[in-house]
Amino acid sequence: MSAELAIKEREAFIVTKGKQKNQLRCDADSIAGCVSQRACVYCGARVVLNPVTDAIHLVHGPIGCASYTWDIRGSLSSGSELYRNSFSTDLKEQDVIFGGEKKLAAAIDQLVAAYRPPVVFVYSTCIVGVIGDDLEAVCKKAAQKHKIEVIPVQSSGFIGNKSAGYRAACDALLRLIVPAGPATAKHGKSVNYLGDFNLAGEAWIIRNYLQQIGVTVNAVFTGDSSYAALKEAARASFNIIQCAGSMAYLAGKMEELYQIPYQQVSFLGVQDTRESLRKIAVMTEDAAVMRRTEELVAREMAAVQPVLAGYRAKLAGKKAAVYVGGGFKAISLIKQFREIGIDVVMIGTQTGRREEYQVINELVDDGTVILDDANPSELEKFMMEKGAHLLVGGVKERPLAYKLGIAFIDHNHDRKHPLSGFTGAVNFAREVYSTVCSPVWNYVRPEGGQ
Ligand code: SF4
Repeated sequence: MSAELAIKEREAFIVTKGKQKNQLRCDADSIAGCVSQRACVYCGARVVLNPVTDAIHLVHGPIGCASYTWDIRGSLSSGSELYRNSFSTDLKEQDVIFGGEKKLAAAIDQLVAAYRPPVVFVYSTCIVGVIGDDLEAVCKKAAQKHKIEVIPVQSSGFIGNKSAGYRAACDALLRLIVPAGPATAKHGKSVNYLGDFNLAGEAWIIRNYLQQIGVTVNAVFTGDSSYAALKEAARASFNIIQCAGSMAYLAGKMEELYQIPYQQVSFLGVQDTRESLRKIAVMTEDAAVMRRTEELVAREMAAVQPVLAGYRAKLAGKKAAVYVGGGFKAISLIKQFREIGIDVVMIGTQTGRREEYQVINELVDDGTVILDDANPSELEKFMMEKGAHLLVGGVKERPLAYKLGIAFIDHNHDRKHPLSGFTGAVNFAREVYSTVCSPVWNYVRPEGGQ
């Protein structure tokens, strides 16, 4: 086993199924000096909130933090395009010494005058946490002055790990969705769809499936969402959560505050899509919805199964490594790879939770390496050792795979095609096939590569 070669403090975060009995350590801050692949707290918050299309997203900090923009996260909008701008207070040395509150207030005034937004999110960054600007007070004053909502996002990069950023974003959303009227007036059979950021239009695919079975999407958190739609969120009949890592906390709070029950779903892969649609149909307690769901599933399965069988024949015997943000996605990917005949030999996440790692451990074969909050050298080591032909990850993992001469699939940031639902399952299989079986690897693979 290779864990003995990892940095000593990292050993508890890596297990090989079948070789070790100890439980994997997770949900902890990164170890200093390990060059974690994780994003910071601010980035976690930005991922969740940035798709709110008609909001001003103002980063209070040095200009570098604002480089995390819409462009590295391709969430699409059917309305406003305001969210594609990244605004920054551009803090400099003088602001660090004398404080940045005046600069922040002036920036909000300028942006409100120029764009007339219904809401402004103000993100705190590391330096703001260090110098102690009172975000809450500045935002409150600006809200009173402009008569719109100005919501602070307490996301100083160093206050924890990426999960703390998800929570900061959820706290900001909870402030936003406080209903104007009574929260109890429910919209018929309607759901809020939590944890989908409409990358390449994925939320639209799911909205379409739900429409076909007779369920309305009330609000999406936060893909293609707007201030007005989010204000209606407390009126849904129930919540469904795709990305639990970022949204389970919000779902729990909405159940507590507005008595909205929730259910975990996943629309990644044919098996999980089918089961999730059935789960939603059961929640409606409506026989007609259940019947329409079975009709939809039968129709879609008939269309995609022959295509997937074709790819399975071509991909048999290939091995995949997975390193993604959240545990729910990792779980679905194991099943999805099985659907196309591929074994997962290494799997890890940035923010997976204990219960998710337990499911991962049950699903994978003996010998699979499972790791939490990995660094590039660990990823390289285990991919090489396990003979992976493909890495699934995000923008930060892409160069690593290519340098090792391994095929790569972006399941996160800047992709241009959807990977959700039945449509997404076919896109995924096609992409796996075209990257793994590309002849280019015969020419660039370094000695010792697979
Ligand atoms: S908030 Fe801190 S860690 Fe995050 S991008 Fe800005 S400086 Fe870097």
